[in-house]
Amino acid sequence: VPGPRVRFAPSPTGFFHVGSARTSLFNWLYARQQGGTFVLRIEDTDVERGREEWKQGIITAMEWLGLHADEGPYLQSELAPDHATAVDALWANGHLYACDCTREEVEARSSARGRPGYDGRCRERGLARDAGALRFRVPATGETVVHDLIRGDVVFPHDAFDDFVVVRSSGVVLYTLANLVDDRMINITHVIRGEDLLPTTPKQVLMWEALNACAGIDDVPLPRYAHLPMLVNEQRKKLSKRRDPVAVESYRDQGYLPDAFVNYLALLGWSPKDGPETMTRDRMVAEFRLEDVSHSPAFFDVKKLTHLNGEYVRALSAAGFLEAVAPWVAPSGATWRPPSAPPWPPESFDADLFARIAPLVQERVATLGEVPGLVAFLFLDEVDLDESAVAALRGAGAEVLADLAARLIDVTWTADELKAVCAAVGDARGLKLRQTQAPLRLAVTGASVGLPLFESMELLGRERVLARVERALARVRG
Ligand code: GLU
Repeated sequence: VPGPRVRFAPSPTGFFHVGSARTSLFNWLYARQQGGTFVLRIEDTDVERGREEWKQGIITAMEWLGLHADEGPYLQSELAPDHATAVDALWANGHLYACDCTREEVEARSSARGRPGYDGRCRERGLARDAGALRFRVPATGETVVHDLIRGDVVFPHDAFDDFVVVRSSGVVLYTLANLVDDRMINITHVIRGEDLLPTTPKQVLMWEALNACAGIDDVPLPRYAHLPMLVNEQRKKLSKRRDPVAVESYRDQGYLPDAFVNYLALLGWSPKDGPETMTRDRMVAEFRLEDVSHSPAFFDVKKLTHLNGEYVRALSAAGFLEAVAPWVAPSGATWRPPSAPPWPPESFDADLFARIAPLVQERVATLGEVPGLVAFLFLDEVDLDESAVAALRGAGAEVLADLAARLIDVTWTADELKAVCAAVGDARGLKLRQTQAPLRLAVTGASVGLPLFESMELLGRERVLARVERALARVRG
C-alpha cells in the first residue's frame, strides 16, 4: 500500500503566518511518520492579493524550518484547465445553474426574509450558462457528515447552507472548487488544514461526490479530513495579523532557531504522551499522532517559545553557536542576514575575540538577536555614556572608579585578579562587591547589566579598560 499523500496549500497573500507554519509542520510530520508524500501546492489564484514576494517568502520560510516538500511546488494557476474541466462536468450533469442576481438584489431579498444568504431564486429558471455566475445546487434535504480525524463526525444539515457560487460571472473559478479539484488531480489522501476551513469542507465533499458521479471524470476516493485547532493569543482571541506577531520571518529575524521554532509549533495542539516537550525531530516524527491533536484552540505563547529557544541555544555546541550567530555578528559573509546590522563598524569585529567570549554569551541569551547588544562593548572604540549613566557615576561611583584606575595599572590582567582588586577597593570603602562593580561595569560596557564583568574586562584588555575608566571620570568631572 503506498503511503498517504498530504499537501500544504498556502495562499501567497501576506507574510508567512505561524498558523500556516504549524499546518505545514503537521502535514510534514504525518507524511514522515506514515512513509507518505508531502506535497507543496501554492494557491496563487487570488490575483488581487497574491504577490510573487509572498510566494518566495513561503518557500524560504519552509526551507528555514527544514520542512522539505517531496513534491511540488505545484501552482494552482497551472491547474486552471482541470478546474475548467470540472466546471464543464458539473454543468453537464446538472449540478450547477446560472444566476444573474446582483449582489444588491441578493442582499435586499435576504434582509427582507430576515435570513442571510441566497434564496435560490435562479435555481429553476434554466438560465443559459453564460447568463451570470454559476451556483452549486445543494440538495434541499439531508445532511453532509464530515468524518474528521481530529474532531470526529461533524454534521452539516443541507438546509443550513445555500447554493453557493462556484464560478463568478467574470468566469473566475472560486477557490472552494479549485482547491478540491487540485486535491483530486494530485491524489491527495489526507487534507490536514486549519479549522477556519471546516465550514468549507461539506461544500467540497458535496462537489467531490458530484464529480465522482459525473461521466468522463475519474472516480477519486474522498480524502480523509483533519482540521487543526485555531491559534489564539493571550486574550484567547484568534491570532490577528495586525495585533499579534504572526510572521514567521520576524522570528527568524529576531534569532529564533529553526529547530526550536519547529519544536514549539509541534506543541500547538499536540504534545507527546510522556517525556519532555523538548524534542528532536526524530522523536516528533515517531510520537506524533494526528488522532491526538486537540480540538481546543492553542495558545501561541511567545514567552514559552522564547524560553524553549533559550534551551536550544544553550544546547548548541560551541561551534554550532558560532555558526548560528554569525549572521548577527559578522553579517557580511552570511548568505542570509537579519534586518539590522550590528552596532559596530564591520572592520572592528574580531572573530577570535568573539569566539573567546561566546561561551559566556551562549549561556545568557534566549535569542540570537540579543547577542550584538551584549558584545558591542568589545568591538566599539568607545562606549556611549548617556546623561543618566553619568549622573549615576557622580559621587561614590566616581571615587570607586578613581581608586580602581590607580590599581588597574599594574594588576595581573586576569579575571580573578581583577575581581580581587575590585573587592579590595570596595572593602577599603566599606562597599560590597556589587556596589564597586556597578560603576565599573557602566564605565567599561556602557550598560548596567551584561556579561560577567571581570571576564569581559580580561578580554577587552588593560589599555581599553583604563581608557574607558579615565573617560568616564572625565565625563563626571567635566
Ligand atoms: N489556501 C488555503 C489557505 O491558505 C488553504 C487551503 C487548504 O489547505 O485546503 O488558507
